[in-house]
Amino acid sequence: HIRSSHPTFQAAKVSAWSATDKAKLVQEVLQMVNDQRRNPYSKVLRTGSATRGLVSDAYNDEQQDAIIWTTNLYLGLNRDKDVIAEASKALHSFGTGMGTSAAASGMTDLHLEFEKEFADLTGKPSACLFPTGYTANVGAVAGILGRNDVVIIDQLCHASIVDGARLCGATIRTFQHNNASDLEAVLQSEVSPYRSAMVVLEGVYSMGEGAAPVADIVKMAKKYGALVLVDEAHSFGFYGEGGAGICAAQGITEEVDFIMTTLSKAMGSIGGVVAASQEHVDLIKSSSRAYIFQASVSPADMAAALTSLRRLRADDALRARLWDTTRYMRKQFADAGYDLGTGDGPIVTPHFSDKDKLYAIVQEMYKRGVQTSAVTYPIVESGRGRLRFICSAAHTKADVDFTLQALLDAEREVDLQLSKNKELEL
Ligand code: PMP
Repeated sequence: HIRSSHPTFQAAKVSAWSATDKAKLVQEVLQMVNDQRRNPYSKVLRTGSATRGLVSDAYNDEQQDAIIWTTNLYLGLNRDKDVIAEASKALHSFGTGMGTSAAASGMTDLHLEFEKEFADLTGKPSACLFPTGYTANVGAVAGILGRNDVVIIDQLCHASIVDGARLCGATIRTFQHNNASDLEAVLQSEVSPYRSAMVVLEGVYSMGEGAAPVADIVKMAKKYGALVLVDEAHSFGFYGEGGAGICAAQGITEEVDFIMTTLSKAMGSIGGVVAASQEHVDLIKSSSRAYIFQASVSPADMAAALTSLRRLRADDALRARLWDTTRYMRKQFADAGYDLGTGDGPIVTPHFSDKDKLYAIVQEMYKRGVQTSAVTYPIVESGRGRLRFICSAAHTKADVDFTLQALLDAEREVDLQLSKNKELEL
């Protein structure tokens, strides 16, 4: 459940590893520091926005003007002038931080309105806010389930879901990615009248696929009486009417018990939210440690998210722009001969059979003014890899054209270097 094979990211998984694995990881990280090898993802934005800016490596002041494809600001609302105006109004009227958790006195009207309007848009009676998407998943899973229960997770689900399951001590089982019949086999062996079962999946996974077969999975879960949580982090805001998400798009809102999303992607702010029945929300709010023992979202971030929520609900043109750029990018890259897999969503991932040249391509593209990332094992099959471009409504077709040219040039350069190295070896 780590999102990159880079050692820095592998560190996130150490708690699940044996002591020997951990020691190996520590060695690898120390070696990396010694070699002054840079983490290709750790760029700092010096000025600019989600899609274009002056960036640099974290420990190096040398700046590069770059088109940025590595953030999940799908609708570009982080730079919207109304969003910024409302955020600064809230900043001036409430100050910077809330100073306590939502369960104590860390709520304003903005927080309350956000919960109400998110619940309304997703078709649920109530909703519960968390300071991040990560803690929303942790809080929802661990707030609802206990050690006698079972959590059944799609094998590609996000780390926060796994961590919520670990925190509550429930039995954790996985089912094969997007596979309803494999889920049935797990349900048959795990569901019992003496404990609760929760099936957890994502509406869209972040590696360039399209919408997951959520309706099939949910139908299967319900056949065995399991609760269902759908994480809409990569679908809320641009699937379904008014951007309500995949559950709305597939007409299964009622059957899904918990609809979760983050405020940090399409809504361009920070926070997490879970919509559910009033009883379930009350249970989460009174039992979830992530809800009770953590400070709430700041007023400015809350105003930004609320304004974004209202805007995305009303503005079909914004969504259309994202989809238009997505389709254009997919077509241009496919016409240039890149294999993009079977997906159709805004995360575009050209596949490469040779993983070794991917990081070099990322560096070469960066030099040419394009910031992207590489994904290798264990996210994808061993030996293979993908580049990842996350489209936003703020990207233009000219950005796509520039990026494709940079990719073609970078790949040519890397191939040339590799063949020169081979000649030297001979
Ligand atoms: N769920 C999924 C599927 C995600 O991709 C992410 C973020 N990468 C999260 C939850 C956590 O959201 P946040 O970063 O806003 O905490």
